[in-house]
Amino acid sequence: MSCCDAGAMSVQDALNTMLVQITTVSECVTVSLANSQGYILAEDVLSPLNMPPFDNSAMDGYAFRFAEWVEGQALAVAGTALAGQPFTGDIPAGACLRIMTGAQVPTGLDTVIMQEQTAQTSEGVLFTQPPKAKANIRYLGEEIRTGDVVLKAGSRLHARALPLLATLGLPEVKVHRRLKVAIFSTGDELKLPGTPLQAGEIYDSNRYGIEAMLNRMGIECLNLGIIPDDPAQLRDTFMQAAQSADAIITSGGVSVGEADYTKDLLLELGEVGFWSVAMKPGKPFAFGKIRDKHFFGLPGNPVSAFVTFYQLVQPALRKLAGEISVAPLRIPAIAEHNFRSAKNRVDFQRGLISVNADGLITVRSTGAQGSGMFTSLCAANCFVIVEKDVPAGSSVTIELFNEIVN
Ligand code: AMP
Ligand code: MG
Repeated sequence: MSCCDAGAMSVQDALNTMLVQITTVSECVTVSLANSQGYILAEDVLSPLNMPPFDNSAMDGYAFRFAEWVEGQALAVAGTALAGQPFTGDIPAGACLRIMTGAQVPTGLDTVIMQEQTAQTSEGVLFTQPPKAKANIRYLGEEIRTGDVVLKAGSRLHARALPLLATLGLPEVKVHRRLKVAIFSTGDELKLPGTPLQAGEIYDSNRYGIEAMLNRMGIECLNLGIIPDDPAQLRDTFMQAAQSADAIITSGGVSVGEADYTKDLLLELGEVGFWSVAMKPGKPFAFGKIRDKHFFGLPGNPVSAFVTFYQLVQPALRKLAGEISVAPLRIPAIAEHNFRSAKNRVDFQRGLISVNADGLITVRSTGAQGSGMFTSLCAANCFVIVEKDVPAGSSVTIELFNEIVN
């Protein structure tokens, strides 16, 4: 692989380079369904049963044999079936069964008419509308057959997947173990919020966004704090991180300034993959290894750190965690004003989408886009991906923020 001091790597090449080098952690664990949220499935889930598991009524109404219905003739009611309380008696020819939603439809009955389309008479139930053969029954196995793959290995167990597993009666699942990622901020100027600032100091903000995003990804965060620009302390922290975590994320110190020691330490303790990505905000972004652990060096500028984590580190960690790779959904929107591009770099501007009077999606900038300005990031709901100048009124690509930042 080439190292890119001279020219920055394209975002796509950087992603591909990382993804081919990253192998999913091999250890798996079995977790209970109740504790499985956020884990990644380690194997396909096959359905142990048919879904629905039995023919059941989709309506409150009456079940009958369609062939026995005669227009204008009432059907005697032979009994009642409730959800969880099947009817076990006989239903004589020409009779019907009062049935509630979810109740088992007895063998032989093939149609349900909804209550609202019936009237009570002294002879029984009269249908006020002609029934449709086989209507209002949810048939055994019509959604899932025993043995079907319902979730693929690599699926994330989110709020939509958990009820599916529960529906199938599965009490536990085999998943990849949670990742543990070490993070620290580098910089002599950084202070913890809550402590007074001396001349030239600022508060460390990067770790708060990164830890929050890791949490939302289901990743355990080993937060090693603020490390000053001191090679010895940085070396110790890198070693500790490499011993304790699956991957290491730092911010700051990846530029080419006098106090930027990260590259030298990477060369000493591991390997340098690439160093610079043609994106804005971002550009200095390092990928490499510390011992046998993947290393992601984010730029110090807070918005750059946040955006490079989101665009580059997020997909890399998803692969490390075993998640099926899904390209982010990028869609067109109408630019509400001109968007200026950055020279030779893809610009991930922060924007806010709305729907105009014609029902079309439009997007505008959330304001000053400086790489240290969090107000425009905080007010945004999407990235506006600007690769060339975009005049007002024309189409621009947007990517809505996903669940890890909302
Ligand atoms: P660096 O990449 O270390 O040269 O830092 C670039 C800019 O980002 C400088 O203005 C730093 O003060 C600032 N910076 C670096 N790390 C952080 C951090 N953790 N939180 C806030 N600002 C930071
Ligand atoms: Mg620094």
